Amino acid sequence: MSSADGLNDLATVPTREALYEDHRHLLDLLRSGAAEADDAGRLPQAVLTAMRSSGILAAAVPPEYGGPGGGALLTNRLIEHVAEADPSAAIILYQHYAVSARIGERGTAEQRAHYLPRLASGEWIAASAWSESGAGADKRNIATTARRVDGGWILDGAKTFTTGAGLASFYLVLAQSSEPDGRELAYGTGGQTFYLVAADSPGLVADAGMDLVGMRASATGFVELHSCFVPDAAVLGPVGEAASIIAEVRDCGATLGAVAVGIAEAAHRLAEAHARARGLDGQQAVRFRLADLAGRVESARAIVERAGRRESDAPGLTTLRSKLVASTLAEETCLEAQRLLGSTGFLRSHPVNRLARDVRAVGLMGPTNDLCRQLLSEK
Ligand SMILES: Cc1cc2nc3c(=O)[nH]c(=O)nc-3n(C[C@H](O)[C@H](O)[C@H](O)COP(=O)(O)OP(=O)(O)OC[C@H]3O[C@@H](n4cnc5c(N)ncnc54)[C@H](O)[C@@H]3O)c2cc1C
Repeated sequence: MSSADGLNDLATVPTREALYEDHRHLLDLLRSGAAEADDAGRLPQAVLTAMRSSGILAAAVPPEYGGPGGGALLTNRLIEHVAEADPSAAIILYQHYAVSARIGERGTAEQRAHYLPRLASGEWIAASAWSESGAGADKRNIATTARRVDGGWILDGAKTFTTGAGLASFYLVLAQSSEPDGRELAYGTGGQTFYLVAADSPGLVADAGMDLVGMRASATGFVELHSCFVPDAAVLGPVGEAASIIAEVRDCGATLGAVAVGIAEAAHRLAEAHARARGLDGQQAVRFRLADLAGRVESARAIVERAGRRESDAPGLTTLRSKLVASTLAEETCLEAQRLLGSTGFLRSHPVNRLARDVRAVGLMGPTNDLCRQLLSEK
């Protein structure tokens, strides 16, 4: 492997164990602060500072711009570890990696030189602003428009559910830049374009103030665009082709299923620790239930690893399945862990309840589980 290839060669991707050790400090900090972050509805400043300086934000950035050039195998493993410690931080990281990868693949030389070194160093966090109320999970009816003007574009619209709102230095915004062209795409439609919009652009207002049931520390909120001017250089990829880019992205193997695996692992550990502490692990019925739980976690991890390795004949379909299967198994794991914890788990403050709230979000996020089923059933 030449150094320019980065960590795309499977043999060179560090093991999950090695990655855990590399980031142990950050993971311990995230884990110890997760309950407080959930209460407060935001990550503590110390955690954000540690995340920025830990090097973890660089994973998807190519070596020539200061990262290790990791593909999905590396980023899925890192996301799993972060999700086990704090799922809210994991979805911020997932969006950051997704935008880093899109710029690496689709950016112009100028865009890559401008964004990637700052994304690698942790100076900048990136977020995706695609969703809107009324747009639908499949983003075919977005109301955010991009109008061509001299030297650039004027964006108008209101995005919802943007993870990292207010934290991000810039947003990958999806906007309708021309009439839908009638192409049948299951996610998005023709005539949509991606724009890289700086958080301090005049006319952009970000607000993390959504009161969510789960993923409460993920700064998931609103991004409003009021006659927001962006130069031509802000366009990422070909004009009008965002939906085709989204369709291709799945082939890379990056999956929110990794968030689900981390959550399932955390719930499994809570159940195991409780059984041990109460001396219940001597009982056959409890041991059987714990064995089933461990099997679910391992199955979820296996399909996420398979997506990251891109070994299947249809990597895009495996990526969709990995998200669907891992999030479903993780929801079941959390429910079963709640049952195993008995009345202890019925205390509002017990961490298993936070995990159960957080895990629901994975099924609701891009693409939603129903949309995954739709996309898989169309093939
Ligand atoms: C915690 C969290 C973080 C998020 N972060 C981001 C982010 O960073 N950036 C971003 O852009 N978005 C983000 N989202 C939004 C998310 O990606 C979804 O696209 C959006 O929430 C979909 O909205 P909806 O379920 O209300 O859509 P609706 O269209 O109202 O869907 C309602 C139900 O119908 C199903 N459905 C809708 N259309 C179809 C279809 N064509 N085929 C099959 N089933 C369908 C859906 O799966 C859902 O179950 C986030 C959401 C959550 C919960």
